[in-house]
Amino acid sequence: MTTRRRFLMMVPASGAVLAAACSKQEGPTAAAPAPAPAPASAEPPTAAAPAPAAPAESPSASGPMVEATDPTAVALGYVALAANVDKIKHANFVEGSNCANCSLYQGSAGSEAGPCPLFAGKQVAAAGWCASYVKKAA
Ligand code: SF4
Repeated sequence: MTTRRRFLMMVPASGAVLAAACSKQEGPTAAAPAPAPAPASAEPPTAAAPAPAAPAESPSASGPMVEATDPTAVALGYVALAANVDKIKHANFVEGSNCANCSLYQGSAGSEAGPCPLFAGKQVAAAGWCASYVKKAA
């Protein structure tokens, strides 16, 4: 009897041990998420696409007006109003000449101001004038 009783007492205990052992094997591995698969793409990582080039500045782009104190303006005798040209200092000045009818003027027809390559990034007055004036071809 002692042996049978002892056997019966051991069966549930061993079952519990087995169940615990099985649950330990399945527990963490079953609950752990599978690692993310590595990207299968054979393509190397691409660098970011280069930003589109800034559009070239158009000749009619706006900019600050040339100031009378601008060193280039002083050197070229630029004035915002051709009527104010110092005609003694600039004897080559011809009445009626101004930036609007100068070949270097890049403003659109009828504009009050526009770019001039002699004053990069700035605008000259259409009614202005400087010693570098070159009559626009008709
Ligand atoms: Fe005006 Fe011509 Fe002189 Fe430029 S070069 S400032 S457009 S007169």
